[in-house]
Amino acid sequence: MAARTQCLFRRAYSSAADKHVAFLGLGNMGGYMAANLAKKGFTVRGYDPSKDALTAAAKTGVTGADSIAKAVDGADVVVSILPSNKVVLDAYLGKDGVVAHAKKGSLLIDSSTVDPNVPKQVFPVAIEKGQGFIDAPVSGGVMGAQNATLAFMAGGRKEDFDRSLPLLKAMGAKQFHCGEIGAGQVAKLANNMLMGITGMATAECMNMGIKMGLDPQVLLDVLNNSSARSWSTEVYCPVPGLVPTAPSSRNYDGGFKNELMVKDLELASGMALGIRSPIPLGAVATQLYRIVQSRGYGQKDFSFVYQLLKEEKTN
Ligand code: NAD
Repeated sequence: MAARTQCLFRRAYSSAADKHVAFLGLGNMGGYMAANLAKKGFTVRGYDPSKDALTAAAKTGVTGADSIAKAVDGADVVVSILPSNKVVLDAYLGKDGVVAHAKKGSLLIDSSTVDPNVPKQVFPVAIEKGQGFIDAPVSGGVMGAQNATLAFMAGGRKEDFDRSLPLLKAMGAKQFHCGEIGAGQVAKLANNMLMGITGMATAECMNMGIKMGLDPQVLLDVLNNSSARSWSTEVYCPVPGLVPTAPSSRNYDGGFKNELMVKDLELASGMALGIRSPIPLGAVATQLYRIVQSRGYGQKDFSFVYQLLKEEKTN
C-alpha cells in the first residue's frame, strides 16, 4: 500500500511538463527542500558555491553543477533559496545568472527571504525573456524543510503560482497566493515581525511574573488559558523546561537563529520605512534582538532574549 501511495505521489508531483528542476542554494533549508523534490520524482540539478553543500546534496539524489548557468541549462523550473538581497539579485540578473541562461518558458521560483523590491526587480526582466517568476518565501524553519511541512507564501501571476503548485506541494504543506509580485515577501516579513514582537513580549512578561515569585508552570498555564495566549506561549515558550519541544528546552539550539530574526526585522523595518508605516513595536524588537546578537548570541534561537532580560537586576 505504501509503495502504491508513493507511486501515485510521484506521478502527481512530477508532471511531464515540469520534471527537470535546477536548485540554487543547498544550505540548511535548500538542502532538505532539494532532497524532497528528488524523493518525489523530480530530476534535480543543484548549484551551491559550497563544496560541502554539493557533496551532502549528492547523497540525497541531487546532481551537482559547478555554475548557475550549468545548473539552469534546460531546466523546466528553477527554485532558489539564498541568503540575501544582493545574492538573489546577482544570481538572477548577473551576466552568468538565471535569467540569462534559463530557457524560454521556464518557471523561476525564489524562496529566499528578501526585500519585496528584489522580486519586483527580477520579475520584468524574466517576463521579457519569456520566463515566469514568483517570489515564494517560506515559514516553518529547518524542521519544516526536512519534513516537507513548510508554508509557502507567494507573489506573482496566478498562472505561475498554479504552475508552481506541484513543486511547492512536494516541499511543503501549505501554499498561499498572496497577490502581485513581492506580495509573498510582504506576508513573510509581517509574519516574522509579529513573531519577533510576541516572542519579546512573552519573554518580558514571563520574566516579570517569575521574578515576582510565580511558579513558571502556573504562569504559563494561566497565559495559555487566557487572553495573552499565542504561538510563543503555546509552542515556543522562552523559559527552559516548560515546553519540552521548544528551543529554550535544548539550550536555545536548533531553532530560528537570532541573527535570522535580526535580518527579517531589518528587512521589515526597511519596508515599513519606505511607506512610512509606523512600527513602534517592530523598531524596539529590532533593537533588542540586535543587542542579543552583539553580545554574541546570534546563533542561538531568538527566544534567547529571555536570558538577557533575566540577567537584568530587579532592584
Ligand atoms: P544557509 O546559509 O544555510 O544557506 C544558504 C546557501 O546558499 C549556502 O549553502 C550558500 O553557500 C548558498 N549560496 C550562496 N550564494 C549562492 C549562489 N550565488 N548560488 C547558489 N547558492 C548560493 O541559509 P538558510 O538557513 O538555508 O536560509 C536561506 C534563506 O531562507 C534565507 O533567505 C533565510 O532568511 C530563509 N529562511 C531561513 C529559515 C531558517 O530557519 N533557516 C526559515 C525561513 C526562511
